[in-house]
Amino acid sequence: MERYRQDNGSVLMKEILLNKEVKIISSDRTGGVSGGAYKSLNLGLHVGDNPLNVEKNREIFASYFGANAKELCFMEQIHGSFVAAAKKDDTPKADALITQDKSLILCVMSADCAPVILYDSDKKAVAAIHAGRKGAFLDIITAAILSMKRDFKSETENMQAFIGPSIKSCCYEIEGEVLKEAMTRFSSALQEREGRWFLDLQKIIIAQLIANGVTNITADNTCTCCDKNYFSYRRDGICGRNVTGVKIL
Ligand SMILES: [Zn+2]
Repeated sequence: MERYRQDNGSVLMKEILLNKEVKIISSDRTGGVSGGAYKSLNLGLHVGDNPLNVEKNREIFASYFGANAKELCFMEQIHGSFVAAAKKDDTPKADALITQDKSLILCVMSADCAPVILYDSDKKAVAAIHAGRKGAFLDIITAAILSMKRDFKSETENMQAFIGPSIKSCCYEIEGEVLKEAMTRFSSALQEREGRWFLDLQKIIIAQLIANGVTNITADNTCTCCDKNYFSYRRDGICGRNVTGVKIL
């Protein structure tokens, strides 16, 4: 199901096929043209990198799909729970995109937040979801599922989910108000180690998927904060963005 592809000895990326009908690619930070904190495959235009380099990097990422950058659909991600129908040449303020259009590649930018892909193998529809801590607390997973049910008549029994590279409970320490809310609402996703509290974001997402009836779930086991091949906001602050993209074949 999952394989690693190495191009030109430099690009190490993860490519996953669901049912041979959907291609999902999660980039890491290697194989691009950006420098400094953005070295090298930064795919975020909003993080202070040279936009010309980001455009080149987006062409490189699109080429992994055998496509060009015009086919990539990005969002202006705002850590909310708004779901948008993907359109060409459109960058909606949203944290999830849905489509049945085979010509589009839905993209989620992340640097620790969890990218989540949903695929309905019956209605041939996909969702690409940006589920960070805020999005998970707002249950953007359910919002995306409801949008697929409304727009495509999707049924969750036909859905598969993929959770891409993201920060894991080894590194995701929380405190203050966030910890208080997590203790109230998501206590089973908390781990205590030596008086410090760590959040298991994937556990919340998986519980939300299962609560909706999605049980066919594949989760990447990379921690973006531990693995220096990935951009990590928690580790580095100023940094680039990884992308998980999905295309219906
Ligand atoms: Zn870690």
